[in-house]
Amino acid sequence: MAGAQEAGDAPGHQPCARRVLVFPLPFQGHIDPMLHLAGVLHARGLAVTVLHTRFNALDPARHPEFQFVAVPDGTPADVAAMGRIIDIILAMNAAMEASPAVGEALRASAVAGQDGRPRASCLFVDANLLAVHRAARALGLPTLVLRTGSAACLGCFLAYPMLHEKGYLPPQESQLCTPVPELPPLRVKDLIYSKHSDHELMRKVLARGSETVRDCSGVVINTAEALEAAELGRLRDELVHLPVVLAAGPLHKLSSSRGAGSSLLAPDHSCIEWLDAQRPGSVLYVSFGSLAAMDSSELREVAWGLAECGHPFLWVVRPNMVRGCDVDSARQLPDGFEDAVKGRGVVVRWAPQQEVLAHRAVGGFWSHCGWNSTLEAVSEGVPMICRPDAVDQMMNTRYLQDVWGVGFELQGELERGKIKDAVRKLMGEREGAEMRRAAQELCAKLAGCLESTGSSQVAIDKLVSYILSL
Ligand code: UDP
Repeated sequence: MAGAQEAGDAPGHQPCARRVLVFPLPFQGHIDPMLHLAGVLHARGLAVTVLHTRFNALDPARHPEFQFVAVPDGTPADVAAMGRIIDIILAMNAAMEASPAVGEALRASAVAGQDGRPRASCLFVDANLLAVHRAARALGLPTLVLRTGSAACLGCFLAYPMLHEKGYLPPQESQLCTPVPELPPLRVKDLIYSKHSDHELMRKVLARGSETVRDCSGVVINTAEALEAAELGRLRDELVHLPVVLAAGPLHKLSSSRGAGSSLLAPDHSCIEWLDAQRPGSVLYVSFGSLAAMDSSELREVAWGLAECGHPFLWVVRPNMVRGCDVDSARQLPDGFEDAVKGRGVVVRWAPQQEVLAHRAVGGFWSHCGWNSTLEAVSEGVPMICRPDAVDQMMNTRYLQDVWGVGFELQGELERGKIKDAVRKLMGEREGAEMRRAAQELCAKLAGCLESTGSSQVAIDKLVSYILSL
């Protein structure tokens, strides 16, 4: 087991009386919230042991406050190399179920240590790790699920069988705008779906995730009452058998550990110096998260759209962002682009996103609308251009555009003229100003949830009491 001797002691170096285990799904958008939750619990006096897969392994040196245990996950190398998240989740779970390694790691991690390490009260697990939940259950260790997506997403997840029975899914072209009255305000086109994945495999992953949620001892959702009160109410009705269903987010605003601390790619901090030199609210930040990809022709259109829009921008071009391309994606940027944007546009491979969105120079965010990116933007009052790609990003866009009024969707083919117009709309005076005002109002409501008597802090209080009761 890695970790310094004092690892796990609470702030102030008091030995912790209780300990929790956490086991994130090894993808960026799932690792960050789990480690933020770990940080929040650690700050409340609980010791934390992080179990992690060897696939996308975490670096213990970045979190000396936690103990770390690497668990052999057995994900076949060829599946890992393909990089398809649905396939990896299924293969990883199958390998874990076929081996005693997870159970052994959990057993060894859960017991009290001779060094005074307290026994673990429970395990926080990602809903996609049913194999880990089952192993914990076999040991009698209670599990709580951390949902890293929205409450609406969890509602859709649990409703997946019904959505198929009633014919909403798989989506039919002619039905895309049909409302789904069982899950307001969603339409068929907003439901969880991926054009890049085999739908039956996606169904299987969601069915397994639902089993984890229904069978666990409590659910923590990285959302807030100010964002999703009605959705949370419906979930509590549905999961009435669970002792706790808590909205404790946005976790990155409650945790003192910085987002970049668990980045799988090294963030380029030089962009912060560049932002320091820009006018307040003048910069468009562009990032499509850790997984979404585009064709090289789309990359070219984005590049020229940004070049032609006239606004300063900071653009994350991940090494693997262009589909089917073996070289670093930034090397696919068109000839002449660098000269055209010199002094006005910056391209990085990975940004310290939370710091970027909190920077006073950033006035807009063009995003794929992953839930973390959504939360990070609304927490800072930054309005958005939404370009959803798959899974829950369409429903996040629905909320951003039509429920909260803090963004709008850029639809159809990516084309430089449309991109230029969208950026000007967001960063400009009229419609952009309206969305900026709505974003500031939402940000203030969210800040209220984070105050000591706010709903998210109260949720953490309840969670800690619950953990101590286990
Ligand atoms: N992120 C980052 N730097 C980047 C791009 C993304 O730190 O250059 C982080 C971002 O802050 C967010 C996570 O990666 O916390 C992406 O999660 P999200 O749910 O938005 O999308 P996903 O990657 O899961 O599609």
